[in-house]
Amino acid sequence: MWGINRHFLSPSFKIKKEIKNVSPCIPSIEYLLWCGKKIFNHNTSYMKAALFTKYQAPITIEKVPDPDLLIDGVIIEVKATGICRSDWHGWMGHDSDVQLPHVPGHELAGEVVAVGKTVRNWQKGDRVTLPFCCGCGYCPQCASGQQQVCDNYFQPGFTAWGSFAEYVHIRYADVNCVRMKESMSYEETAILGCRFVTAYRGIVAQGKLQPGQWLAVHGCGGVGLSAIMIGHAIGARVIAVDLEEEKLAFAKSLGANVVLNAQAVDDIPSAIKEITKGGVAVSIDALGSQTTCINSVLSLQKRGKHIQIGLMTGPHATPPIPMGPVISNELEIIGSHGMQGHQYPAMLDLILAKQIPLKKMIGKELDLTAGAAALMEMDAFKNTGVMVINQF
Ligand SMILES: [Zn+2]
Ligand SMILES: [Zn+2]
Repeated sequence: MWGINRHFLSPSFKIKKEIKNVSPCIPSIEYLLWCGKKIFNHNTSYMKAALFTKYQAPITIEKVPDPDLLIDGVIIEVKATGICRSDWHGWMGHDSDVQLPHVPGHELAGEVVAVGKTVRNWQKGDRVTLPFCCGCGYCPQCASGQQQVCDNYFQPGFTAWGSFAEYVHIRYADVNCVRMKESMSYEETAILGCRFVTAYRGIVAQGKLQPGQWLAVHGCGGVGLSAIMIGHAIGARVIAVDLEEEKLAFAKSLGANVVLNAQAVDDIPSAIKEITKGGVAVSIDALGSQTTCINSVLSLQKRGKHIQIGLMTGPHATPPIPMGPVISNELEIIGSHGMQGHQYPAMLDLILAKQIPLKKMIGKELDLTAGAAALMEMDAFKNTGVMVINQF
């Protein structure tokens, strides 16, 4: 959380501005205690943020102190931030990294407005984004280029306050920030930061999917739709599975060759094996349930790769994976967790070269208040495409 390592602080981040249109709200005792001296310090400047003080309690728009700037960090004025199911898990209390009070948000793009003393690669005015899973830059994982599994990981919206705010502080900026493509909007870039990079790494780096191979995508939420577009872009044949016709129609419009409604098809793995004449080379559980996980494993051809991307929580945390076929067919069970910032350029090049229709993926653009409300309703699975907050 900001302010813990105060000796690392750079000169104070201050932006002279009036706070306007902050919804009237009564801060909770927990929030006031956390703010302590800071909120009553006349030198502190403030920003708007969507904040919760208890898990599963209403997220309200509050006036909170601007972020402190650490010497290895940058402060980004958030221009767009995606709303992701992992934010919902954090709000529900499923993620032990989330400490109260908390500001969610981890898929973001914006403009650098303050730069820490030791940061070399960035300056004010740069348009940047970042993967949600930031590395420290010096642990053994980071030293080997695997920042996505950093031993001292930093995740805005989880280990620190996130981007459902006017400003967000990003630590280890040299390692994690990525320059935006000039031709891409803040909205298109922001939605890459979690679900898209995870799907890209899952398919390309972990799954090693090749043109002409079959890819199965179980679950057509944000990760699933991203996986469909990426699979299609690299020339694979894609089967999309979901429970809703509307999502399947959308999946088809994004490049799925075959769609299967699991409400209408009893045995999804058998259907996939019949269509592909033996199973898919790579299969992704993009939802995170016991059913989708097991269906994904059983959809594979011999020596195929199951990629687990959907988070497994609650009753789904320990799925009974069918180890018989895993052994006899030499299947691979592989996790995938975000992506390193340094892998962004290849992904951005693919997006532009293949004209991946990111705009089509944006289902709704919202302001901060509506975005906070939408986050609390994420478990209802009502939306097709992803939601982006772009007014603060
Ligand atoms: Zn590290
Ligand atoms: Zn996410």
